[in-house]
Amino acid sequence: MGWPPFDAADLGDRLGRAQAGLRSNGAAALVLGPGADLRYLTGYSAHALERPTILIVPATGTPTLIAPRLEAMAAAASPAAASELIDIAAWDETDDPYRLVELYLSGAGPAGRLLVDPGLPARHLLALQRILPGRSFGLATEVTRPLRAIKDVGEIARLRTAAHAADRVVAQIADGALVGRTEADVSREVGDRLVAAGHQAPAFAIVASGPNGASPHHAAGDRVIQPGDPIVLDIGGTLDGYGSDITRMLWVTGGDPSNGPTTEFLAAFDLVRRANADATAAVRPGAVCGAIDEVARRVIREGGFGDAFIHRLGHGIGLEAHEDPYLVAGNDERLEAGNAFSIEPGIYLPGRFGIRIEDIVVCTDDGLDVLNEAPRDLLIVTGRGVAAG
Ligand code: ZN
Ligand code: ZN
Ligand code: ZN
Repeated sequence: MGWPPFDAADLGDRLGRAQAGLRSNGAAALVLGPGADLRYLTGYSAHALERPTILIVPATGTPTLIAPRLEAMAAAASPAAASELIDIAAWDETDDPYRLVELYLSGAGPAGRLLVDPGLPARHLLALQRILPGRSFGLATEVTRPLRAIKDVGEIARLRTAAHAADRVVAQIADGALVGRTEADVSREVGDRLVAAGHQAPAFAIVASGPNGASPHHAAGDRVIQPGDPIVLDIGGTLDGYGSDITRMLWVTGGDPSNGPTTEFLAAFDLVRRANADATAAVRPGAVCGAIDEVARRVIREGGFGDAFIHRLGHGIGLEAHEDPYLVAGNDERLEAGNAFSIEPGIYLPGRFGIRIEDIVVCTDDGLDVLNEAPRDLLIVTGRGVAAG
């Protein structure tokens, strides 16, 4: 799957907007460690190590990436460094890297707030606070969140390709052998197939059979899949750094129609299906995040399962599997064109079964774009595999 990297113009634009954000927030610099913000601004996937790698983006002037000597070559090859948008400063094993951070920050002025990566390990942050006693600290999300929450064309293209790859894996698993296999075995197959379909790496492969489906983030385990089982299949990986995340429901008959879904299960499934459809139809620029959650929640509540929808409706997705915006009660933020997020209502009945239907959608200028194309119907399958009939 060949993707052109985000080029110097893209990264220069992102860095420029981050610096404008710093100035309008009255902050001196971003202090970023390895993670999604660093990848977004530089294209560099740094190793998260005990040795600090830190990008300093001052409100004005050239950003500097401070990297351990043994990582410096990789850092210099990153798109932002290769196109001279950032400088690299390498530190040797016997240097104090935090002194280097202090040195480069002094170029950003002696005072002023530092906005640090929310994922910066405590050991690095405490060391910075010790060496910079006069500074106040905030979170980099003040500046990076509004940038990353609006996906550009290249990002949406990656999300769409990832979504379609995950769609294909759902179909392959539904067509394959399931009866007599453990959840863990099927989960490993999902991971392999996510990569074969174009992902760089699987991120998660929830295969929750029978009563295990009642735990939304069930870790696939030793349970052997049997005829008469529903399966919550929630899978995703990353494609050029961007995530897929889809949930579809299977029902395994073993080839015997008498093992088909119960009327109670079908009634609950229908509610989740409608909740997904109605919430999706409510997506448009200006819609309040919490109100979209309520659209889905009302369907399930009025169907009598209000207590069984135990999580928020959805989460943003991009360089991280879960990021802003969150579709959750109380979130008064309004959707904007370019927001990408999941819509994943569910019903969870402990000891019995769980149901979830999840798509990734993008809010567009005139409404929305549903990235996943896999059918949302209950997938009633034999679980014997195509070859076995
Ligand atoms: Zn989840
Ligand atoms: Zn999911
Ligand atoms: Zn999700």
